[in-house]
Amino acid sequence: MPPRNLFVGDDPARDADDGEERGARLVRHRVAQDPFEHRVDARADSAVRLVRSESMRPTAALARGRQALTTHRRPQVELLRFPHPYRAALALSNDAEFMTPRAFWDLHRFLNTSAETRLGPGLGLPITDSLFMYSVDERRSFSYFDATSTRPSRHAWWLRDLVAAGVIDVLHAFGDFDGVGGCTRPHAAAALDELSRQDLRLEVWSNHGSAENTQNIGGSHATYQRGDLPGADEYHSDLTTQYGVRYCWLDFNATNEVPQDPRPTRFGRVHGEPLLEDETLRDGARVRLFRRYRGPNRPDPATLAAQLSERHLELLQEREGAMIVYQHLGCDRSSGECVPNEYPYLPDAAVRALRRVASLRDEGRIWVTGVQRLLRYRDVQASLRWRTRAVGEGAVEVAIESRCDRRDLAGLTFASRHAKVIHVVDADGRAVGVDVETSRERVSVTVPVVEPELPPTPAAHELDAA
Ligand SMILES: [Zn+2]
Repeated sequence: MPPRNLFVGDDPARDADDGEERGARLVRHRVAQDPFEHRVDARADSAVRLVRSESMRPTAALARGRQALTTHRRPQVELLRFPHPYRAALALSNDAEFMTPRAFWDLHRFLNTSAETRLGPGLGLPITDSLFMYSVDERRSFSYFDATSTRPSRHAWWLRDLVAAGVIDVLHAFGDFDGVGGCTRPHAAAALDELSRQDLRLEVWSNHGSAENTQNIGGSHATYQRGDLPGADEYHSDLTTQYGVRYCWLDFNATNEVPQDPRPTRFGRVHGEPLLEDETLRDGARVRLFRRYRGPNRPDPATLAAQLSERHLELLQEREGAMIVYQHLGCDRSSGECVPNEYPYLPDAAVRALRRVASLRDEGRIWVTGVQRLLRYRDVQASLRWRTRAVGEGAVEVAIESRCDRRDLAGLTFASRHAKVIHVVDADGRAVGVDVETSRERVSVTVPVVEPELPPTPAAHELDAA
């Protein structure tokens, strides 16, 4: 059956039909293609299952017979797709327009903490958010700098805390220039200088708003965007990528497909979209683009429950994929036009959907994490180079060969049905600390993930002052 693009277009009837059919098919495949199932054989009772080393050609192995097989051998270890025990991953990606400081903190206290909040008991989910450095209209969007100046605003101190904590992990197009425009290279340079000076690192970029935001990045589908056009007044992508932005969401990266990065079939074919793709910007800079699930209707609190529907969360798990949900939590569109969202912020259906997500996380089914963390994890997991060797009775060493920051190993899980102990060392041969999980079926080790914690809420006068 040829791969089909599912959930493309805004036809809900077709989405439902395709979803049913494809979901059922994948369930069947999952049962048949579990790698552990395939690898259990008559020797499942032996302590360490051994397979031929990759360096040995099968013909040579056959010629040398069984002796060769036992001298060139590699203990069987699997790098799992998601951190143990999860089989899928979800992040919420919020674009910050129309969010008031009060709404930001009320919503994130509910989403991120376990405290009693204005929206009920907190969910304890590490949901991240985005940052404007400038804003042409403070009633619409608060920002790090005061309006379009380079003077820090009265919110700058707690925005710094949020970026440092990792709760804010996306740079939203430098600023909100809707309806006015005027964000040029000096704005970009001043913003990046300030972030660097404060040692604040943002790896993720998302384009923002209306076509006046010509600082947006266009890449291979550029129309009005000039942020990556050398020579344009708005050109900044050389500075932005040198600063450290490596993942970009551009205007054409919204999707209606659920999820991305589905598990390949047993023959290695992938039916579905990747979460990340390579892109060369118009100045030659190389970045990775990422997709966000939008849905057939505008992404705001009124459509959050549909984005996180039971069916979508089932598909996410059945297809063992990843999903980044595109939102504007600060936008109340119930009057027909967008205005800043006010208490209670979310319809009951959206709160129920978020509670369902929290339950699935608590049950160890869906890994809920921040945008940057999920992108980095998928990137590292998909390209990781590693090898194994037996280091004693039932013990295996996983040596990671890829050179990457220690923090980027977070969440990686190695599992084996045959080893009793798995050690992990990095590219310099240094031991990597892991959490160990042993069941009757397998042993797995996971590099711990430290999720961001919401800093203390600023005093009310900091948030509500006009
Ligand atoms: Zn935006």
